[in-house]
Parts: sequence; structure tokens; C-alpha cells
Amino acid sequence: MPTTTYALPPWDPPSVPIAGSDERFPVRHVFCVGRNYAEHAKEMGGDATKEPPFFFTKAADSIVPVVAPDVGRIPYPKATANFHHELELVVAIGRSAWEVSPERANELVFGYAVGLDMTRRDLQNDMREKKRPWDIGKSFASAAPIAPIHRIAQTGPLARGAITLDVNGARRQTGDLSQMIWDVPHTLAFLSKYYELLPGDLVFTGTPAGVAAVVKGDRLEGRIDGLTPLAIEIV
Ligand code: MN
Repeated sequence: MPTTTYALPPWDPPSVPIAGSDERFPVRHVFCVGRNYAEHAKEMGGDATKEPPFFFTKAADSIVPVVAPDVGRIPYPKATANFHHELELVVAIGRSAWEVSPERANELVFGYAVGLDMTRRDLQNDMREKKRPWDIGKSFASAAPIAPIHRIAQTGPLARGAITLDVNGARRQTGDLSQMIWDVPHTLAFLSKYYELLPGDLVFTGTPAGVAAVVKGDRLEGRIDGLTPLAIEIV
């Protein structure tokens, strides 16, 4: 068999550690859900209740795996003065499907992790007002810190549990997974109408209320019941 000859040195796929294992989860696509908790939808100036979910993406190489007790060092990004945290449950996809039903969607789930959908809010809002794509507000270097993935075989399907973010020891975001407007199975059902979900995909499932700006030196600690916490410092 001929081997592929690359003009540049090829890189390994971005990957996330798997809790309790030496194996890693290779990352293909990173999908994100917008406004999936009612209180956050309100603080963003809308009322998402009952509307179908909407989606955006981040580049796979925007993920930054962080394994406790390490603290991820996330550089304050260029071109923003309003860098926001959004703490989210991340679903890792282990099987492929188009148009999965909510009843069968959990069969696609490999596992779950705590993640941060870091956002250049000023750029996102500016693009939104101009009716341009938001990409520069959401997809950039180090925009998606993520803790190790826990296999669904160990956790069971996650439908409830506290989700909290502390900044410098003060509670900034708090909610419960059961407060999602569209739960994980319904989110995957909607998403798979537009994309074939594939092994290696990650889905950030939206953030509870309390998003706010961070500055250099801030220490963020995100927790979801039953999962390894995620700690980062803005440097
Ligand atoms: Mn988000």
C-alpha cells in the first residue's frame, strides 16, 4: 500500500483524555448549542423557550484538555476586551447517525465532560448586529477548555445534576442540567437533522445564566455533578 506523502509535517488530531483510562478521545467536529437554558436566553436578550435549538461550531483545535489537579493556562485572546465564560456539559459522540430520534439518541453518546465555551462577546455581538457570522467570537485558539471525558457506561445518561462555575472562589454561574430547554437526546435529534454525527464529535450543550467577563489572573473552576471538574487560569 502506498503511504500518503504530506507537503508539511502532519499533526495528530486534537484529543481529550478519558477518565480512568490511558486512551484518548480523538476530536473531529465541535458543535455548540446556543441559548439552551431559559435564564441565559433572557440575559442574552431573548426568550428561547419552545424555539428549536440553534447551533454553531468551533474548530477542533480550539480545545484545550485540562486534567485535574492541573490548572489550564488559557491566554487572554487577541482582539477582544470582553472575554466571557460559558460553563457547559459536553457530550462526546461515539457512533455515527443521521436524524437520530430522541428515544435512541443516547445510543450515540460515548461520554460526558465539563467544558467552557469561551467567547469574545464583543466580537460576537458586533457580528450579530451586522448580521454576519459569529465565528470570530466563538472559534479561536484556546476557546474550548475541557476536562476528561467520563464514559456513559460509568455515569449513565446525564439528565440532571448541578452545574456551577466559580471565578476566584465566588459563584458566578449556577444551574441544573434538568433546566436545559432541549435535553441532550432532543439536542442530538435536532443537530443530526443538519449534520451526520460522527465518532469523535463533541457537542457543547449550552450554558446556564451568569455569563460574565474575565480578566488576566482570574481563576475559573467549573463543576458538574459526577464529572471531573475543570480549572483554568486566564494568563
Ligand atoms: Mn455556549
